[in-house]
Amino acid sequence: MDRNYQIETKCIHSGWTPKKGEPRMLPIYQSTTFKYDSSEEMGRLFDLEESGYFYTRLQNPTNDAVAAKIADLEGGVAAILTSSGQAANFYAAVNICEAGDHIVASTAIYGGTFNLYGVTLKKLGIDCTFVDPDAPAEELEKAFRPNTKLVFAETISNPSLVVLDIEKFAGLAHSHQVPLIVDNTFATPVNCRPFEWGADIVTHSTTKYMDGHAAQVGGAVVDSGNFDWTKAGKFPGLTTPDESYHGIIYTEKFGKMAYIMKMTSQLMRDLGSIPSPQNCFLLNLGLETLPLRMERHCSNAQKVAEYLASHEKIEYVNYAGLPGDKYHAVAQKYLPRGTCGVISFEVKGGRQAAVTFIDSLKLASIVTHVADAKTCVLHPASHTHRQLSDQQLADAGISTGLIRFSVGIENPDDIISDLEQALSAL
Ligand SMILES: *Cc1c(COP(=O)(O)O)cnc(C)c1O
Repeated sequence: MDRNYQIETKCIHSGWTPKKGEPRMLPIYQSTTFKYDSSEEMGRLFDLEESGYFYTRLQNPTNDAVAAKIADLEGGVAAILTSSGQAANFYAAVNICEAGDHIVASTAIYGGTFNLYGVTLKKLGIDCTFVDPDAPAEELEKAFRPNTKLVFAETISNPSLVVLDIEKFAGLAHSHQVPLIVDNTFATPVNCRPFEWGADIVTHSTTKYMDGHAAQVGGAVVDSGNFDWTKAGKFPGLTTPDESYHGIIYTEKFGKMAYIMKMTSQLMRDLGSIPSPQNCFLLNLGLETLPLRMERHCSNAQKVAEYLASHEKIEYVNYAGLPGDKYHAVAQKYLPRGTCGVISFEVKGGRQAAVTFIDSLKLASIVTHVADAKTCVLHPASHTHRQLSDQQLADAGISTGLIRFSVGIENPDDIISDLEQALSAL
């Protein structure tokens, strides 16, 4: 696709350009396998001597078209789709880390990723040090070790809504010859493209805004192609022969595509977390309207945040669009078009008031989800963090009255009326 097109145009056209007589809509190649005329032809595919489809666990044309669109939206050289955001963040790390290695990650990340890096990777011999993303660079320096292989953070963290100083993190990572991986799920490439600020790899839970309708669970990993694996000298998996692929050296054979090619040929081959072509088709439909929806999510969230911030029954509101928010300035720099539709706030009266308030909502639905067309709400103390004591909640920075509110794309007056009637029940 023409690199000069604006993001709205890329969302519609990137990834699939039909030739004469081909379907205008991206077709769903619902096939596990692909046919060849000679044994020799197929052999060359297995040797990675030629590119071509042979088995959907490795590559599928529908999936590839959507991956190419997402790579184009982020301004990257290549992308791979995974069956979930969790799989994307797992692959992004283990593609360049193994037992004995170390990761530096922000504490302000999705609970699932916190567990993945802090507990599950630890069982595989990969250690993770969690750092406060707002700490000064000199403080963050101390987390690095000789075996550190990557730095990980989220553009806008779920659920704490911390906005990342991407340049600060990229500078730190690069001074230690390791890549910065940014989970860009909440911002989406419409509102922020981390590669433009120095990030090297971007991941997504496409389950959220990219799909936008809560229809499929999926993930993506995108490579900027900018990180020099050879120069860094720390990534033998990319720069020395792969015995499981006839001794090819990914950086030599694939250049800027090395990271994604290694992920496809080793991790997809061995672990197999592919999305179905049907799900990729649904994701692609969502991507077509992403810029329209993000604009509406952000303007609605801004109105809701302003309404709540001025309400006497509300303790505080977290939303970087509010001028008084701790992350307002950093959001203005990295996300000038808006942040996202997710806000968090606390009603006065703690846990019980929060429960009464949520149960009184009529339009907003109680679901374990965020970032789709429908307004939804969650009370971490009663739901996602239910097993924690009040003290443990406090230690995790979650007050018992905290409410996570994902503003949808309904008419904002209807969302505010719903909040109004629920607040009047307190
Ligand atoms: C939801 C989410 C994930 C996990 O994605 P799944 O698609 O649910 O596996 C990872 N990162 C962020 C920021 C998320 O919001």
